[in-house]
Amino acid sequence: MDLSYILNHLGEEDRAAHRGAVSPPIYQTAIFAFETVAAMRAGFGDELDRTVYTRGNNPTVEILRKKLAALEGAEDALLFGSGAAAIAAGAIACVAAGDHVVCVQKPYSWTRALVRDHLARFGVSHTFVDASDVADVEAALTPATRLIVLESPNTMTYEAQDLAAIAALARARGIRTLCDNSYATPLNQSPLALGIDLVAHSATKYLNGHCDVMAGVLCGSKDLIRETFRGPYMTLGAMLSPHDAWLMIRGLRTLPLRLRQIAATTARVIEFLSAHPKIERIWYPQAANDPQAQLRGANGLFSCTIRCESTSAIERFCEALRRFLMTVSWGGYESLVFPVATVYPPDTRTGFERAGQVPVNLVRLSIGLEEADVLIADLAQALDRV
Ligand SMILES: *Cc1c(COP(=O)(O)O)cnc(C)c1O
Repeated sequence: MDLSYILNHLGEEDRAAHRGAVSPPIYQTAIFAFETVAAMRAGFGDELDRTVYTRGNNPTVEILRKKLAALEGAEDALLFGSGAAAIAAGAIACVAAGDHVVCVQKPYSWTRALVRDHLARFGVSHTFVDASDVADVEAALTPATRLIVLESPNTMTYEAQDLAAIAALARARGIRTLCDNSYATPLNQSPLALGIDLVAHSATKYLNGHCDVMAGVLCGSKDLIRETFRGPYMTLGAMLSPHDAWLMIRGLRTLPLRLRQIAATTARVIEFLSAHPKIERIWYPQAANDPQAQLRGANGLFSCTIRCESTSAIERFCEALRRFLMTVSWGGYESLVFPVATVYPPDTRTGFERAGQVPVNLVRLSIGLEEADVLIADLAQALDRV
């Protein structure tokens, strides 16, 4: 199936059912009524694919579900009200009390909280490992390990994992693997094709791309998705609303165009920053000298450290930026800056952090759809304030 068919038509083929509407209708309803007892009974037997109750399935959400499953090369997918919900549901579907989870060292903060704080409360133990070396992952496995949680790359310092090698290791031992693929997007990396069992995304980022919807998706085999649906999905009830699904169907249509433009602009911005005396180091998985570069394409999220004595200089830099909004998240149409200094006290001396920690003077930039020259001029004037 080609990309434009997935984005423009998949799940929307029966336009005659909606009087030929080109944009699909928003089924703004919580419940669906039945003509016969037999039909209602059949609905209860298959709440994922029939329409009974919108917590289980809704026609507008179903269109998006088909598109995202196809993009990831998955048999099926589930949509959630956030990426955090998708990751939590996927992990909960795979473990029970007494099990052990191996998780990458520096995952998304709420993935870490899930593994370290919440699964632990239900008797699921864990080990965090620097998974860039497969041997370290293997060494962390115990006879009780049931799940390996990966994020390749992560979204602050971009450590990647050898997904194929870890998937093979896990499969041989009957251990399931879950990979957060938010950074790469399905266009640049296909973890399922490498043997990973479940792929999760924060669809809040590039997939929706407009910073106006919170959404998550979990992709996998028909069996694993059904198991997740009957268990955590229906129990947690963290579903995506039909209206948000509709907005995301619209956002998703321009994903390839947005990523292409953003990658080109990012290359220009990185070229400028690399030559700037106040930039210490750049973290970007697609940089030519990055030994971990393995993604097919580029995107616009990267980090850099700024040469300075204390975080006061970082504050001056961030507050001088006019075209980059200072905030969390990434992956929208607008450029953003996230200074790690915000999680430290004011005027913290740089360079004191322990090995493995994110540097105090690190700033993460998410490049949007603005003209490259505009962003470079803005960065140049802000760097003059450092
Ligand atoms: C934002 C993010 C999440 C969480 O997704 P939400 O949609 O914010 O719940 C998970 N993983 C990564 C890599 C993220 O950037």
